[in-house]
Amino acid sequence: MDTTDIIKCPACGKEMEKVYIPSEGINIDICTNGCGGIFFDNREFDKFNEEHEDIELLKEKLHGKTFAQVDEDAIRICPACGGQMVKNTTSSNGEIVVDDCYICGGKFLDHCELDKIRAEYKSDQERKEATIDFLFNKVGYELKDMELKNTQAKAKRNLGQKLFYSILNLD
Ligand SMILES: [Zn+2]
Ligand SMILES: [Zn+2]
Repeated sequence: MDTTDIIKCPACGKEMEKVYIPSEGINIDICTNGCGGIFFDNREFDKFNEEHEDIELLKEKLHGKTFAQVDEDAIRICPACGGQMVKNTTSSNGEIVVDDCYICGGKFLDHCELDKIRAEYKSDQERKEATIDFLFNKVGYELKDMELKNTQAKAKRNLGQKLFYSILNLD
């Protein structure tokens, strides 16, 4: 997939908006006019290899908006490669589900899944820890691969974690 191509949201079918992350030189696809879902392609995750905090744009795009309801149980088709995405449960109570594409490494998070993570924990500290677990254990199968490779993998993982935490901590 050309990263400049507009893709359609796998949950609601609306065109996703490219949100440019200047520090990384990449676009992340966000369903700003539909359900609020976020799609990361494999290469996008792969580029989180340096320290950065520059995700204000991403937060702005999601902050304070009301998004369309979607059927979270529906099977999603990967917008990058057309493969069938696989649901992976991420929380202890099984409420939070992320869609993974095992063909191209794409990853989709529903907006309500982010909300659920935020709602599930009473304190910021609790949520932070849960979010870290979420990312480490469930979100990134490619992150597990990277662990095997080199120390750079750790830097990438930390940045992925930072990004996710920042997304969740919108206020
Ligand atoms: Zn959508
Ligand atoms: Zn795919």
